Amino acid sequence: MGPPGAGKGTQATGVAEHFGVPAISTGDIFRANVSNGTELGRKAKEFMDAGEYVPDEVTNLMVRNRIDEPDAEPGFLLDGYPRTLAQVEELDGMIKHTGHSLDAVVVLTVDSEELVQRLLQRAETDGRSDDTEDVIRRRQELYIEQTEPLIEVYREHGILIEVDGMGEVDEVSERIFKALQDVNES
Ligand code: AMP
Repeated sequence: MGPPGAGKGTQATGVAEHFGVPAISTGDIFRANVSNGTELGRKAKEFMDAGEYVPDEVTNLMVRNRIDEPDAEPGFLLDGYPRTLAQVEELDGMIKHTGHSLDAVVVLTVDSEELVQRLLQRAETDGRSDDTEDVIRRRQELYIEQTEPLIEVYREHGILIEVDGMGEVDEVSERIFKALQDVNES
């Protein structure tokens, strides 16, 4: 977890590789569906372009189908999901059904000035259609309103790990590996 620009996508790929599990990014799956012009992509596009969350029913079903695939059988890392309380509940149910348990929730913390700089830079390099100033602002608002409260939920569950997301990509990765290693060993 972490606000837009915290480095979730970048770190998710490296961490998943390190642990030999697939990184399941809801944002990436939506973007691939938009590019391929699928029914799911058509449903998601208007919400994504406005910086809004895709409705829970659509997102939940997509994640449920994805974690049922064979490569996710040994475990998986979710990037960008859950983002709402309804998704937290749905994920609990899905995970019970697969026989897994949620080992850890990693939150990347980054100061707000750095977030803006990173997003503006990404707008130049990646050309994501939702990296315009208004849309970035809306995504940040939604994160604070709907997603940040999940941090307390997972803290109460005792599985929250807060990691300093400032600094070089490799430094942040090392912090995450170390924190997750400690979880594995405890
Ligand atoms: P991301 O790549 O994680 O920043 O996601 C890009 C966009 O995809 C978000 O702004 C949402 O419109 C949509 N999205 C990704 N994950 C979710 C989710 N868990 N719930 C609802 N919408 C999502």
